[in-house]
Amino acid sequence: MLVACETTWREGASLTSSSGQRLCAKHRIPLVAIRAYQAPSGPNDPVVLVHEASRPYYGVAWQYCPNIIPEHVSLHPAWILREPTTIWYCPLCQKEFLERLRVPDQKKALEFAQYVLPIWGGGGVATKPPYQISLRGDVWTISCFLVDGRKATIKFSKEKGSVISTEYGKRNLSNQALERTADRR
Ligand SMILES: [Zn+2]
Repeated sequence: MLVACETTWREGASLTSSSGQRLCAKHRIPLVAIRAYQAPSGPNDPVVLVHEASRPYYGVAWQYCPNIIPEHVSLHPAWILREPTTIWYCPLCQKEFLERLRVPDQKKALEFAQYVLPIWGGGGVATKPPYQISLRGDVWTISCFLVDGRKATIKFSKEKGSVISTEYGKRNLSNQALERTADRR
């Protein structure tokens, strides 16, 4: 797959060296071929798109790391991903990509919550303090409010940068005991 993000990799994600080797356009190292499994792609099969929907920064990170193992394949046969295929990827792109998805510290965790809570189920409404931030094992938990008064909580993975769960209070405070409690704090 040579399609690249137009803004970041205008000439494409890979180059061909003088000896005919495929190189990563960013790192200038040879791409590595691996066996992977994709959804069936026969002429009569519908196109199946498998999206990495739980990792909100996936698309952003990908722009900087053009030759990753793509999201629509699996390295082991699983679910509908059973048709063998060959993937060319850059080990440095893959390493940087996973590093970009990690949420290593409180500052990054707060940015993650401020970015994701409004777009995930907040209807575009921004978050506001106070922020309660905790880390248990691999799981960040952040509770805060949206500017319209709803309470919001998000749990996500520190290592994978994937959303585990989100929870939103109701906007209508009059018939929600929980929300009345939250409002008085
Ligand atoms: Zn690379």
